[in-house]
Amino acid sequence: MRPVQYGSGSVNPKPLHTGLAVVGSGMAGMAAAICAYNRGISFVQVGQASELAFSSGCLDLFSILPGRFPKGFEDPFAGIDVLAKKKPHHPYSRLTHAMIRDAFAEFTGFMGSAGICFHGPEQNGQNSLKNQHIITPAGTLKPTWQVPAAMHAGSLAIARNQRICIVDIKGLKGFGARQMAQTLQPLLSSVTAATIAFPGRETAGDLMCERLAWDLENPKILAQFIGLLKPHAGRVDVLGLPAILGMYRFEKLRRTLEQALKKPVFEIPTLSPSVTGMRMKEAFLGKMTDLGLLHFPVAVSEIFPDKNGFVFFVTQGLQTMEVRADHLVLATGRFMGKGLGVRDEQIKEMLFDLPVAQPETRSGWLRSNFFAPAGHPVNQAGIETDDCFRPLDAAGSVFHPRLYAAGSILAHQDWKREKSGSGIAIASAFKAVSSIAENTPARSG
Ligand SMILES: Cc1cc2nc3c(=O)[nH]c(=O)nc-3n(C[C@H](O)[C@H](O)[C@H](O)COP(=O)(O)OP(=O)(O)OC[C@H]3O[C@@H](n4cnc5c(N)ncnc54)[C@H](O)[C@@H]3O)c2cc1C
Repeated sequence: MRPVQYGSGSVNPKPLHTGLAVVGSGMAGMAAAICAYNRGISFVQVGQASELAFSSGCLDLFSILPGRFPKGFEDPFAGIDVLAKKKPHHPYSRLTHAMIRDAFAEFTGFMGSAGICFHGPEQNGQNSLKNQHIITPAGTLKPTWQVPAAMHAGSLAIARNQRICIVDIKGLKGFGARQMAQTLQPLLSSVTAATIAFPGRETAGDLMCERLAWDLENPKILAQFIGLLKPHAGRVDVLGLPAILGMYRFEKLRRTLEQALKKPVFEIPTLSPSVTGMRMKEAFLGKMTDLGLLHFPVAVSEIFPDKNGFVFFVTQGLQTMEVRADHLVLATGRFMGKGLGVRDEQIKEMLFDLPVAQPETRSGWLRSNFFAPAGHPVNQAGIETDDCFRPLDAAGSVFHPRLYAAGSILAHQDWKREKSGSGIAIASAFKAVSSIAENTPARSG
């Protein structure tokens, strides 16, 4: 092991021993932490803010098979079966339907206990489940598998052909109800638009969702807001609002609104940073704290593998702590998460320098057509693994028997095009941690 520079702070002389280190706190890192908790594996999690702050807050599973002629699937599992035949190295090819379903159940169960309840699709007549749809701020319909309760009335209204009124707020950028309604009219049976001024911010100029979400936690502002919405609730079945209904008490705020308006209300995710994504992160971290679980919101600069596991150092304030973990789940994401980076014209994995599957030269990263329906090869770069999601070395052997990977760092998937971001993250983390659990005695107490 190489010597480590500690900076000017002190080093806690007692190393922290743990069964598992989860490196990354995005969707895959959260899922790995939840699976470890549910299996009684002691763990610590490290990682800073992730792509979650940009996410709609919905859990996508699968809906599009990219290719020269992309193919859409209403039933994600039917799509995954076709995908697995076409792409045997795709992460979903290493998972059964049952594993994916169990992984979602565990994830949504935990998030429900943290205050974010998800709704899956309603069963249709043919004993298969179809993706639901949500309205996006661009005025399109996005297919997804699980929607948070805050958006559920919208997905039901779309499925049931109900009358929807989208309400926007004067000064809120990137959310135009009239433009959204116009774009949606060919797709939905009845959609109208209305605009209100936000109480107390009528002349404030540009408004930010996060600010409005905090404002609505104030009962006086909420009451005025409800008063402004009332005239628009009359002749529709459901009202759609930008996602601003509070950061922490959003369920209570929505219920208050629905009782006062006597109509279901749903949120529409806004452009980044998205309140719906931030809520998920806040709820997860709050629950981790309640359960006394360890999360360090820091980046790790180096990890030292040895035969017993992994050693790394986390620095918080002026103190540095040595962590010794028997197993490690690498959930550091792709370029945005910083799990992958670029050095010397090559895509590199940043912590272990694992081999990265990628086009031979940089000129192969992108196709000449920006909107190429098959996607860009760089968006499938990532690390190769065995069937349990253990990364492989250059010779194709397992790099370290106790190292696992999960989420968007995995190769041979293009989650953006496939609409499979959360599904790959949650299900790969589930399988990785389940494999670890088979080799780990449960913690006592
Ligand atoms: C704009 C946008 C919208 C999206 N919308 C949706 C959506 O509607 N539905 C959906 O299902 N998915 C959506 N996603 C995708 C989803 O949010 C996840 O990004 C994706 O599933 C991958 O998650 P991940 O955990 O693998 O990686 P990331 O979310 O990138 O997380 C990587 C984590 O690793 C940490 N990390 C990296 N390096 C280190 C290090 N050295 N030390 C410690 N920690 C480290 C980072 O701090 C971060 O916490 C969206 C993503 C974006 C960008």
